Amino acid sequence: MAETVTNWARNISYTAKEFHRPGSLDALRALVAASASVRVLGSGHSFNEIADPGSEGVLLSIADLPPSTDVDTAARTVRVSGGVRYAELARAVHAYGLALPNMASLPHISVAGSVATGTHGSGVGNGSLAAPVREVELVTADGSTVTIARGEERFDGAVTSLGALGVVTALTLDLEPAYEVEQYVFTELPLTGLDFERVAASAYSVSLFTDWREPGFRQVWLKRRTDQPPVDFPWAAPATEALHPVPGMPAVNCTQQFGVPGPWHERLPHFRAEFTPSSGDELQSEYLLPRPAALDALHAIDGVRETVAPVLQTCEVRTVAADPQWLSPAHGRDSVALHFTWTDDTAAVLPVVRRVEEALAAFDPRPHWGKVFTVPAAELRRRYPRLADFRALAQELDPGRKFANTFVREALGEGTL
Ligand SMILES: Cc1cc2nc3c(=O)[nH]c(=O)nc-3n(C[C@H](O)[C@H](O)[C@H](O)COP(=O)(O)OP(=O)(O)OC[C@H]3O[C@@H](n4cnc5c(N)ncnc54)[C@H](O)[C@@H]3O)c2cc1C
Repeated sequence: MAETVTNWARNISYTAKEFHRPGSLDALRALVAASASVRVLGSGHSFNEIADPGSEGVLLSIADLPPSTDVDTAARTVRVSGGVRYAELARAVHAYGLALPNMASLPHISVAGSVATGTHGSGVGNGSLAAPVREVELVTADGSTVTIARGEERFDGAVTSLGALGVVTALTLDLEPAYEVEQYVFTELPLTGLDFERVAASAYSVSLFTDWREPGFRQVWLKRRTDQPPVDFPWAAPATEALHPVPGMPAVNCTQQFGVPGPWHERLPHFRAEFTPSSGDELQSEYLLPRPAALDALHAIDGVRETVAPVLQTCEVRTVAADPQWLSPAHGRDSVALHFTWTDDTAAVLPVVRRVEEALAAFDPRPHWGKVFTVPAAELRRRYPRLADFRALAQELDPGRKFANTFVREALGEGTL
């Protein structure tokens, strides 16, 4: 490949033989039909080889396809092209007085790439970003278009699909009336005596942050919808200044705090759309496990915090409602998500990732598909009860497995392991 293409964090250089950015749907179809092996790159925010086609494959970006966000106000839906990022989508639907139910910590990620990996925000009643998707349009291996809609059995494999079924060119999402959110930050929530269920349910979206230098949480971020009950958070003190989740970082990039009401899309992400989020000098890992195990899992991490803290920038604890997507890390179980933003030192971080995975092993954790993990693929496969259904769907839509790379083959048990 003539140019070096890396992910956002620059810890992965894609090893494709060619990189293409088709400018039209027809060019995309022709390219896919003519290629033996293809992977699609979204906004490149994943931290592992999930998007890497390998040295014999074609890496394809759809960022140059004409972007579209077609809002249907009567149906309360939006049909969005796959390469559009959430910041752009949110502004477009908000202009019609409509909203998405939730967002991730930053709005700079592409819609198709996010739902492909099960990307999520927080909230005991909020599913992942895949939850509002009602229809997926794919360019499949022979260049034809396939539309899969909610209600079809195979739909539960079609959204969180690891990019393994085809090129997602458009998605249709359910919307709801626009709402306002107030964001409050509290500090120093002890781990001892933590009533996780009540804390996690104390607002529409709740995130706990810690650097694990001490037991307990340095910050709690509550995002309250103004159409829901007022915040009552007796367990920690309100912050006295605006804060960034990583200790010592300036809060200027963060969304408005101190309970100032504002539009949903300017409060649900932690980071403002108009700022480029941090410089990329980080790695991330995240594990989703059954929510009832949250407290035991947090104590398990507390037990290894002296190993974790030296390579940790921040740890965020969120919740995700169960969903039916076969490959979703929240499949079939209300989940707690333990996220780690590490330093960018891969060699120092990997042994700690392994240590965290050992500490969490008893809780059947499912790693975030887009982040760093070392769980052996065979073990991973056992954690997905509908994996065989997904494999059958991949065979049906892509019999030659044009869209499978090493990462996908290992995850699905299609050969290399
Ligand atoms: C700073 C930062 C903050 C993050 N915050 C969160 C968070 O709050 N919550 C969370 O859950 N995750 C978070 N993530 C992880 C991130 O959301 C995921 O890695 C997500 O997949 C990124 O989307 P992307 O478009 O960059 O995907 P990429 O990394 O480009 O690709 C991911 C996968 O999607 C596939 N794909 C992409 N586009 C298409 C398409 N059009 N058709 C078919 N397949 C496609 C790729 O082939 C690949 O398999 C964060 C990452 C970063 C760097």
